[in-house]
Amino acid sequence: MIESVSSPVPRVAAILLAGGTGKRAGFEQPKQLEWLGGKPVLCWSLEAFDAHPAVSGGVLVGNGDVKAAVAPLPDGWISADPGAERQDSVANALAALADWEDDAIVLVHDAARPGVGPVVIDRLLAALSHADAAIPTLPVPDTLVEQADSAAGDVMGRERLARVQTPQAFRLGALRRAHAAAAGASATDDAQLVRQSGTAVATVAGDARLHKLTYAEDMAILSGLLGTGAMMRTAVGMGYDVHRLVEGKPLWIGGIEIAHSHGLEGHSDADVGLHALTDAILGALGDGDIGDHFPPTDPQWRGAASHRFLSFAGDRIAANGGRIAHLDLTIIAEAPKIGPHRVAIRERIAEILAIPVGRVSVKATTTERLGFTGRREGISAQAVATIQLPEN
Ligand code: MG
Repeated sequence: MIESVSSPVPRVAAILLAGGTGKRAGFEQPKQLEWLGGKPVLCWSLEAFDAHPAVSGGVLVGNGDVKAAVAPLPDGWISADPGAERQDSVANALAALADWEDDAIVLVHDAARPGVGPVVIDRLLAALSHADAAIPTLPVPDTLVEQADSAAGDVMGRERLARVQTPQAFRLGALRRAHAAAAGASATDDAQLVRQSGTAVATVAGDARLHKLTYAEDMAILSGLLGTGAMMRTAVGMGYDVHRLVEGKPLWIGGIEIAHSHGLEGHSDADVGLHALTDAILGALGDGDIGDHFPPTDPQWRGAASHRFLSFAGDRIAANGGRIAHLDLTIIAEAPKIGPHRVAIRERIAEILAIPVGRVSVKATTTERLGFTGRREGISAQAVATIQLPEN
């Protein structure tokens, strides 16, 4: 095998264009500052470039509000002021990169496309191993027609057309030459300028998640594409538990100790209510049962306080990106009376799981002296957990 002599890996910078002041589509502020999934739209792109191992820095082009929204910038990033037109903003960013070598790569990206990810960046960088410019494109799924005066004209051949996205990747030298040659002219993207300067522009497969925020309804589309919480599914789990009553043991139910002549027997503190709740949550998660995670054969759980089991189940929800919508617990006991303790049990469960008390219901019933609970031989509990989890 012959080893080839490889050239040094070029540095890669991002140019993030966030200088627009447009408020069309009914936004209260420039669209790159609109809130999407817990952060401003432009932060999605900034974080994606910062996280990519090949990208060593970048230039954020924006006004004072934009700079304040992302301060402090990640390591390797600087900012530049926007110009009157997009092309002027890119020129300002190029000036800020004056000490970068011509062989470096720049990824010019529109901050109104928050769905940039590593796959498209990798495709663009791979294309630049054999081209000086590359852009992501998608096919046109709809039939296109010419239109004039509300009348449909001839069909345009969509197989020869493509939708152009950003980021667009360039050798820095090629982009510099294109901007120098185009001074005074204007273009809606940098690939047009580069092509006009005689440099071939390669295409790579784009990504539906690079959908551009233009109109108010695009926020809902982007929420779905980026999985920002709008796409949750509801999962319901049930739990059931029984423990035997024995004389002279402390009685724990629903995370509180209740004064009584008898207590529940079990390996842990035998809190029948918290066990049923824990199993209900694990059931909603499809994550086994309490015995799988806390085997009764394991001596470390002897006498354990059951709030640890419930906390664990709550942590499993959080680890899955989910949240508790509601918990409903029913305690079935002839004695003692649970009713006087219902409020305290609700509050304790809400405290253990760090959720509002309004999301916890506690009920109690007897079995009219029938069966093992009616004979006071044991206490049982049933629980239903309703949780919300991200799709996929
Ligand atoms: Mg149990």
